[in-house]
Order: sequence, then structure tokens, then C-alpha cells
Amino acid sequence: MTGTSPVISESHVTDVGGLAVHRSLPRHGRRMVGAWCFLDRFGPIDVTPERTMTVGPHPHIGLHTVTWVLQGEVLHSDSLGNQQPIRPGQLNLMTAGGGIAHAEDARERSRTLDGVQLWVAQLESTRHAPPSFAHHADLPHVDLPHGQATILVGEFAGSRSPAATDSALIGVDIAGSGSLDVPLDPAFEHAVAVLHGSVRIENAHASPNELVYLGTDRQGLALFLEKGSRILLLGGRPFPEEIAMWWNFVARDRTELARAYQDWTDRTDRFRSVTTSLHRIEAPRPFWLQ
Ligand code: MN
Repeated sequence: MTGTSPVISESHVTDVGGLAVHRSLPRHGRRMVGAWCFLDRFGPIDVTPERTMTVGPHPHIGLHTVTWVLQGEVLHSDSLGNQQPIRPGQLNLMTAGGGIAHAEDARERSRTLDGVQLWVAQLESTRHAPPSFAHHADLPHVDLPHGQATILVGEFAGSRSPAATDSALIGVDIAGSGSLDVPLDPAFEHAVAVLHGSVRIENAHASPNELVYLGTDRQGLALFLEKGSRILLLGGRPFPEEIAMWWNFVARDRTELARAYQDWTDRTDRFRSVTTSLHRIEAPRPFWLQ
């Protein structure tokens, strides 16, 4: 096994709809892993009427959202008319393209809520295309000597997820105890996010909400999972385009970001509306326009 030495980065805590989340991507010094450009862990929390996930209608452009629930249930509603509950083991994949809006609501659905939401930057060739949404209730599982892998996106150990993304990448949930050797594509860069327990990779020892960056050029990876651990393995070809991220938008420059801000603020038909009882989230004014 080759590649660079593992580099651990910590998440930072931020607020999403009144809920404290741990954000592992983007971070200073680590903006992306392949096309993966955003990673938030919400929970685990004991849900109360005051504390749950209630993210009202808000827009996205230029990205896929990947929602993966570990515990509890979240209702996704979007401006294409989809109303889709998501439960553990299922994947919601939303493609924003030129523009979509959605809301996420866990009210009255869960006692405990835990999960992650990731974004995947879309390539220039697809990012202006119409939006879409897919729910995948059945994902492939792979048995490993000391664990089990669930393939969210991409191909891993000979099995492929039915979820379609527009660039080559993988996202794999691995639960297990002890030593695991997993195959990797050496053309991809990879990182491991710890969900539960802890993981040792070479000289790095990482805990929940830490991200271990592994670089490219690895044929495989030797992991040691503390008993009952769970991790997310992310990988992809180093993203070939320079992206500009602001608020809920992934674009290429500030002109595009400002246009998306204006279209949401002016309620043009670019993003359309979402059927939900949650309040619409207004965009902050871009700091470079002030
Ligand atoms: Mn969103």
C-alpha cells in the first residue's frame, strides 16, 4: 500500500436550522475529496419538540445532495413535487443541476436522530442540466472478514450502487470490529469519516467527527476498527475543475453565485416552490456585494 501518510482533520460545529452539526468538509486545507465537497453529521440527538431537524425550503445549484440516515426518519420535500421519507439503510440522492429547492423535516418522526448529509460537486458538463431526485431503498451490501459494507454510491469490492452520479466516486458505509483490508482505486483520492467508535489507519487514530485524508495511489487500505465502529469511506478522482461555494450553491465564480442568490430572493421560477409547513429560508446577502 502506498499513498501519502494519513492526515486527520477535525470537524467544526455549526448551526443548521437550529440543530448543531459537525462539518468535516469543507475545512481549511481540505476543501474536497474527489467530487465530495461537503460533509455534515447531524446527531446523534434525542429529539424534542424544540430540538430536531427542521430545515425549511432552501435552494441548491451545481451539486448532488446525498442524505444517509443512521437513526430516525427525515421527510424530504422538493420543488419537483417529491415527498420522500428516508430511513436507515436508504439513500436520498438529489441532483440540483441548474436549480432546485427542498426542505428536510424530522418533526414527529423520530425519538433519536442521527445521520450525515454530503454534497457532490457536479461537473461542468452536467451542472446546468435539469434537477432530479432519486430514492434508493435497496443498496448492495458486501461482507468483509470483520465487518459489512453498504455501498451508497459507486463501485466497491465488485458491487455497484444503483445511485447515479455524474463523476467517478465512491461512498461506502463500513460497520465492523477488528482488522479490515479494503480494495481501493489508486486513481481516486480517499478519506475516512468516523461515525461511531474509532479507527486506526497506519499511525493515525481517529474518533467520531474526524476525517482521515488518505491521498491518491492506494491499491487498498488496512483499517483497524475498535469494537462496534462505523465509518464512511469516501473517494473519487481529484476534481478537475475549480469550484466556488457559497451558502447552498456550488458554482464557478461569484457572478454565478450572486445570480443564484438573486433568483432565490426574487422568487423567480428557477427554483420553484416546496410544499411544506416549514418556513422558507432566505439567503444572506453575499458579502462581496455589500
Ligand atoms: Mn439542502
